[in-house]
Amino acid sequence: MAITPLMPVYPRCDVRPVRGEGIYLYGEQGEKYLDFASGIAVNLLGHGHPHLTQALQKQAETLIHVSNLYGSPQGEKFAQRLVDLTFADTVFFTNSGAEAVECAIKTARRYHHAKGNPHKNVLITFTNAFHGRTMATISATDQAKLRDGFAPLLEGFKVVEFDNLDAALGAIDENTAGFLVEPVQGEGGIRPASKDFIVGLRKACDEHDLMLVLDEVQCGVARTGKLYAYEHYGIEPDIVASAKGIGGGFPMGACLATEKAAAGMVIGTHGSTYGGNPFAMAAGQAVFDVVANEEFLTRVRTMGERLRAALEQMIPNHDKVFEGVRGLGLMLGIKMKTDSRAFVAYLRTKGILTVAAGDNVVRVLPPLVIDEANIAEFVEGLSAAAGTYDVPETA
Ligand SMILES: *Cc1c(COP(=O)(O)O)cnc(C)c1O
Repeated sequence: MAITPLMPVYPRCDVRPVRGEGIYLYGEQGEKYLDFASGIAVNLLGHGHPHLTQALQKQAETLIHVSNLYGSPQGEKFAQRLVDLTFADTVFFTNSGAEAVECAIKTARRYHHAKGNPHKNVLITFTNAFHGRTMATISATDQAKLRDGFAPLLEGFKVVEFDNLDAALGAIDENTAGFLVEPVQGEGGIRPASKDFIVGLRKACDEHDLMLVLDEVQCGVARTGKLYAYEHYGIEPDIVASAKGIGGGFPMGACLATEKAAAGMVIGTHGSTYGGNPFAMAAGQAVFDVVANEEFLTRVRTMGERLRAALEQMIPNHDKVFEGVRGLGLMLGIKMKTDSRAFVAYLRTKGILTVAAGDNVVRVLPPLVIDEANIAEFVEGLSAAAGTYDVPETA
């Protein structure tokens, strides 16, 4: 038998973490890594944060799981907190990002179904988007690497160019249910949508009674220096998918919706065995205790500006390797002049963890609790690595 016990779908590297402390990870032989990847934008509080750890310990001793057939004081409290802090009136808890997007897609379709327009079931989605790995979420993209070999895919998605408002508006027809878009594309290469684009989509949704569905799985929960990225755009969405950072490393997600958007989501229309169990709610509450206040969010914006400024200052010294920085808050991307995957691998050998993304970008996604010393350590390490990096010959 040649196949590995772990299904070999990931190109796993030789970093093998067994312990984490703050912004550092430690391997089996004690190797130390500076973690500027945070899972992939997951460990908002770093590793072993005392508030999250204690909340999980306490909840594990009290109650880990009960069925959604019972009342959920823990779920009600966390949902109320999300409702108080966001555009949303109601929340469905999931176990992952893709499930949060699935719920968002179902909610958008049911909205039109409930209004007697079941033909309005097509979501307009965008190039280079990433919405997850389930059948619906791969059907929502046009990326061959996600879709190849999984046909037949689901109907009901139409892909147009990202950040091109004319293309988005031109794609609207009598079957359109709404738009599904990442305000800041993550896997696609840390591309923030322009303000005109998001505001234009909102206007079109108001005019044509469509659903503006935001995938904030990567950019949500304080990552960009706002609790949710839509706040940067001065609009309110109808539906938002949230996950990754929301549990600080505990697997959970949420689909947030307005009362209007959730009109079709009545008893029996959706469900999840684990979704919103007391253990997950304790994780979410602990993360929100730390991040959901103006002081913390301001700090994320400040640290984001400092990190960005330090990178911008360093980049001209290595202009054969780096092209520039983009992003929002602590969701930053370094556009490379050489292959980003090879450079991310090289950084790992220097004890620095980042994540490659589309468009030849190195994603810089540190825990949100970093300080200036951590930024200096990262930028110095990155600069030293760029200095010793043998730029591969391009053919
Ligand atoms: C990671 C991601 C997902 C999928 O989340 P999973 O937890 O892996 O299912 C969906 N959308 C975006 C924008 C993501 O970054």
